Amino acid sequence: MQYAIRPLAIAGFFVYVAFLWTLLLQHWIPYPFLFLFLGAVMGSAWFGGTIAGLISVCFSTVIIAFFFIPPVFSFKIDAAAESYFVSYIVCAVVVSWVSAAKKKAEREIREARDLLEIRVQARTAELELSNRKILERERQLRKLTEAIPQQIWSASPGGEFEYCNQHLLNYLGLRVEETRGARFLDVMHPDDRERFVQSWEVALTAGSALEGEWRVHGGDGNYRWFLIRSIPERAKDGAVVCWYGTHIDIEERRRAEQQLNRTQSELARLSRVLSLGELSASIAHEINQPLTALVTHAYACLRWLQASPANLEKATATAEKIVMEGTRAGAIVSRIRSLYQRGEAVRRAVDMNEIIRELLSLLREEAVRHGATVRIQLAPELPELYADRLQIQQVVLNLAFNALDAMAEVNERPRELTIRSEKLEAEGVAVHVEDCGVGLEPQVAEQMFNAFFTTKPEGVGMGLSICRTIIEAHDGRLWASSRQPCGAAFHFVIPAGS
Ligand code: ADP
Repeated sequence: MQYAIRPLAIAGFFVYVAFLWTLLLQHWIPYPFLFLFLGAVMGSAWFGGTIAGLISVCFSTVIIAFFFIPPVFSFKIDAAAESYFVSYIVCAVVVSWVSAAKKKAEREIREARDLLEIRVQARTAELELSNRKILERERQLRKLTEAIPQQIWSASPGGEFEYCNQHLLNYLGLRVEETRGARFLDVMHPDDRERFVQSWEVALTAGSALEGEWRVHGGDGNYRWFLIRSIPERAKDGAVVCWYGTHIDIEERRRAEQQLNRTQSELARLSRVLSLGELSASIAHEINQPLTALVTHAYACLRWLQASPANLEKATATAEKIVMEGTRAGAIVSRIRSLYQRGEAVRRAVDMNEIIRELLSLLREEAVRHGATVRIQLAPELPELYADRLQIQQVVLNLAFNALDAMAEVNERPRELTIRSEKLEAEGVAVHVEDCGVGLEPQVAEQMFNAFFTTKPEGVGMGLSICRTIIEAHDGRLWASSRQPCGAAFHFVIPAGS
């Protein structure tokens, strides 16, 4: 009913209005019904749709045929008005169709726009929600960075701070706005800057994380050691877009390490003193030789002087020998003194072959006491090392004495200690101390570099641990291997630049 009444009412209304207006206007305008009824059809189709349009075409056709086309007040149509009348019907149908179609299109557009609007609103709401979630997550992350007891930052590719957590700000003694544009290079200790820039460039080119220990300037004016770790965030093309970093305060650890080093060097000195006790016999022997020679030469000199006439030429030659032997004895004494003197490591340019050669006479004496022989193979033209002579001597001595101890109970084969120096391709020197002793049991090899590990009844167990500390302090490496068919070998490497 609703679908029938509404178009009927709309069509009736528009056609009725057009009819009244036509009655009114027909006295002044010829055939006003044409545009008025077309207008009524258009209005009906627009407001009522296709059906209302078609109904108004029917109504208007009937009214026009009856009231306005001669003969009036009859449904008959003059032959002259026929074409006119048919054209009206065609126009009315077209107008009705166009108007309804236009209206329909307009409605569809409006509906589509409304739909779009609803969707946009839904999307906007979704976006707002996700924005709120992102903000909330960011807030939580910030909170988390504040809860972590470490200093956290992010920086631009050029190393300028973009974000610092409160711990870092507190340490640097800066306000947030003061950190903007500040480079973390500026807060580094001047001595560490070059090392830092080098590591940074390596990280940049290799695309790897940056890690190292550097000193950072605190707001209280002091520097503290930090373990600084940083990872780059990269764009798709590989370019660094920012850096994320953490600072872990390792000042206490550093101090403890320094303390440990001091204790170890103290122990090293102690161990030198202990070794000295063992060596005293051979040292006494060494000094004895020049002293005996001195006395012999002095007697000879006296004899040449007491002869008549005194043989001054021979006396002078003998006196020169006295001076030579005296100097030798003095050198031996000062070397012994330097072995147990307390002192900081003194690095100088040294020749490894010379260091080994200096120890030779001591080693030979000790080897004789152990019923062993010492073989030295020195590589020619070793690069110069920058090292502490005494410390390196102590390492060689320690390894050699361990080797002699390891061969003490070997009777079935000759006891032979070999010390070799080797020039390394990668600019450095290697020293190998090889024996044919008891060899390295796996459980001994595992622990022997630990402090206080010893298998000897009167051992201290500090020798190898001190040796390793010394070599590592020279940026080198000390390790051991088993020899075939028997014995052990200890090797250390010191880079030429160290
Ligand atoms: P210590 O000589 O006082 O025992 P070290 O630290 O010098 O202390 O040596 C630790 C242990 O390593 C020795 O007790 C020994 O068991 C083992 N060791 C060292 N050198 C050798 C070697 N050349 N052959 C076999 N074992 C060795």
